[in-house]
Amino acid sequence: MAATIIDGKKVSADIKAELKMEVAQLKSRGIEPCLAVALVGDDPGSHIYVRNKEEACALIGIRSIKEQLPASTSQEDVLALVESWNQDKAIDGILVQSPLPKQIDEHRVLLAIDSAKDVDGWHPFNVGQLMIGESIFESCTPSGIIELLKRYDIEIAGSQAVVVGRSNIVGKPVAMLLLHNNATVEICHSKTRDLAAETRRADILIAAVGKPKFITADMIKPGAAVIDVGMNRTEAGLCGDVDFAGAKEVAGAITPVPGGVGPMTIAMLMRNTVQAAKAAAGI
Ligand code: NDP
Repeated sequence: MAATIIDGKKVSADIKAELKMEVAQLKSRGIEPCLAVALVGDDPGSHIYVRNKEEACALIGIRSIKEQLPASTSQEDVLALVESWNQDKAIDGILVQSPLPKQIDEHRVLLAIDSAKDVDGWHPFNVGQLMIGESIFESCTPSGIIELLKRYDIEIAGSQAVVVGRSNIVGKPVAMLLLHNNATVEICHSKTRDLAAETRRADILIAAVGKPKFITADMIKPGAAVIDVGMNRTEAGLCGDVDFAGAKEVAGAITPVPGGVGPMTIAMLMRNTVQAAKAAAGI
C-alpha cells in the first residue's frame, strides 16, 4: 500500500490559521505579540529565511521588527542590540539569524538573549527545560516533527523511535521530545556500527543527517513513519536525507522534501512567539 504523504505545508498553514485567531483575541485584550530579528551580513539563505519569518508574522498578526546590520558589525554591537531588546517590554521574541560573521561568537550571542524571549529554544536554559520536560519554548524543528506525527495520528507512545543524527538543534532535542511522548528512543550517528540494522527496527524513523538520499528503502521497516529533516541543496534542487521514491513504497507515512518538516519550523517559531507574549502578560 502506498505511504501516506505527510503534508507539512498544510499542517503549517493550519497552525498559522489557528495562531491568527489566537492573536486576534490577544489583541482585543491589548496584547500584541512582537518578534525582533537581527540579520547580520549578506548570507543569501539568511535573507530568505528572515523574509519568510516576516511574512509569517504579517499573516498571523504578529508585529515584526528587523534590524539589518553590515557584515563588519562588531560582537559588542550585536550584544548591545540584544540587550536593548531584552529590556524592551514590547518585544516578546528575539532571534539573531545564524550564521553570523566570523568575528562574532554565536554562543555568546545566544547566551545574551533573555531566555524568556528565546523563541528558537536554543538558550541553554531552555535546552535544560526541554530535558526535564518543563519547556516554555521547545526548539522549533523538533517540536514541528512531533506536531506532524500527532496531527497524522501516528502513535508515538510505545513505539520504537530511531533518530539518525545527534546535533544540538535537531537530533538530540527531537529524541528528548519523543521520549517525553513515551517512545522508546535510540539515537544513531556516524559511529553507529550497523546503521541499517538499527533503522530497520524503527516504527518512527527520523533522518537528520545532512546527506542527500542517505536513508534508502532497504533501511526502513515496512509501515514505518519516516520523517525527513534533511535539506540538502543538490544540482537537482532541494533534496532530503531519505531516498523518497524508494522509501515511499515501504513506509506507512513519509514527509516529502520540500513540503514536509521545513514549513513546520516557522509555524512553531510563530507559536513560540505567541507563547512568549502570553507568558509575559501572565496568561
Ligand atoms: P549536523 O551536521 O549538525 O548533524 C548531522 C548528524 O548526522 C551528526 O550527528 C552526524 O553524526 C550524523 N551523521 C553524519 N554522517 C552519518 C552517517 N554516515 N551515519 C550516521 N549518522 C551520520 O546536521 P543538523 O542536525 O544541523 O541537520 C541535519 C539536516 O537537517 C541537514 O540537512 C539540515 O540542513 C537539515 N535541517 C533542516 C531543518 C528544517 O527546518 N527542515 C532545520 C535544521 C536542519 P556525528 O555526530 O557522529 O558526526
